Amino acid sequence: MGGRMSKFGISKKFLLWSFLLVLFFLGVVVIDKYFFPQIDLNGEETITINYKEDYKEKGYTASFLGKDVTDDVSVTGKVNSNKLGEYEITYSVKKGILKKQIKRYVHVNDIEKPKLNIDSKDMYVCPGKEPKKEDVKASDNYDGDLTKKIKVKVGKEKITYSVEDSSGNKKEITKKIVYKDIEKPNITLNGEQEINLLLGEEFKDPGYSVKDNCDKKVEVKVDGKVESSKEGTYEISYIATDSSKNTTKVIRKVNVFNNKGIIYLTFDDGPNDGTTNVILDILKEEGVKATFFVTCKGPDELIKREYDEGHTVALHTATHDYAIVYRSDESYFNDLITVQNRVKNITGYESKIIRFPGGSSNTISRRYSEGIMSRVTQEALNRGFKYYDWNISSGDAGNTTDPNVVYSNVVNNLRTDRANMVLMHDIKTYTRDALRNIIRYGKNNGYRFEKITMDTEMVTQKVNN
Ligand SMILES: [Zn+2]
Repeated sequence: MGGRMSKFGISKKFLLWSFLLVLFFLGVVVIDKYFFPQIDLNGEETITINYKEDYKEKGYTASFLGKDVTDDVSVTGKVNSNKLGEYEITYSVKKGILKKQIKRYVHVNDIEKPKLNIDSKDMYVCPGKEPKKEDVKASDNYDGDLTKKIKVKVGKEKITYSVEDSSGNKKEITKKIVYKDIEKPNITLNGEQEINLLLGEEFKDPGYSVKDNCDKKVEVKVDGKVESSKEGTYEISYIATDSSKNTTKVIRKVNVFNNKGIIYLTFDDGPNDGTTNVILDILKEEGVKATFFVTCKGPDELIKREYDEGHTVALHTATHDYAIVYRSDESYFNDLITVQNRVKNITGYESKIIRFPGGSSNTISRRYSEGIMSRVTQEALNRGFKYYDWNISSGDAGNTTDPNVVYSNVVNNLRTDRANMVLMHDIKTYTRDALRNIIRYGKNNGYRFEKITMDTEMVTQKVNN
């Protein structure tokens, strides 16, 4: 045994060495703190940011022998937040031979929960029925589509959807299940919502169909009467009530007219931006349906709108160029089918209602093919088309540019004892400007407006070539 033991059995030598060691470390700390440059980080030394979140440097300060040397600090290291991982930022400052270096650690983690595209509102289930899970989608900022990872727990009183991303972030939505029908039944009227009848013509209700989310059978009460011997507008109401007392009411209007005069407003050569759209606005406001004989010019959206708003989209020809259209029978039908396909592509509907450029009585076609009108009018009928000329010309194709003249050309030629087929052009501004007054006149004088359908009797002129 070397050395002498103290009272507690620790050697004096050991104590001395320990004392010197502590002194040494204290010395190092003091020297480091007071004689070396110092860097202090703003913010935490270890930071976590989200995937793809921009890393923002919080800054630092540096001092040396009581002086601010922040500007002398150099910073190296980069954070790529597009990649998960740990990144180091190194801050260093050097004064003479004395150097100080510290680090900050930035963790790029996915710390965001996945998203479910539903809310936590109550789920309504038809009384007596089993709850069914909804069509829910999940997406995550890092993993992308997580729909396949959704877990569904269906209970009697609640349903829970949960999903977890690859970083362990979890999203959960629980909905309370309420056994109650809060949805109204749905009634669809057969036939037109507004029906025009001639005085004395019997009203036959085309009926309706009804559907409900819960009930197979839904009670429908039909109310209202049409007196076909008396002019006027009548309303028939259809009220559907399901077993949970949700009700829907739909009304059908029936107009009884004392006038055989029908007005078919027909518009050729469109569509055209700036006129057709305004004409559609006016027709909508006035509740009037019309017929558009279109070409391959103008925007698709306007043809879509004509169709969607319940008008008849009919065929004029694709080019409307007489030299092409009337070069030969084949050329005519090619041009016709081209515009038919355009309409079909836009609306899904195959129109078979046509108007010949210049009308079936035109003689200009003689320049290109002798006898072509006699042949194509017949061939069109053979192929199941119907063609419509006109018995009133608005004069907007050349005789006038004055809306007042367009107006009087139309209204002065209306007759109450026939179908009035009115030729107009929706590419003309003066026709657009005359339209509202023409419609008002027609309404005030007991005419009814109709669109051409395949059931409409053809209005034809005499073929001259
Ligand atoms: Zn035309």
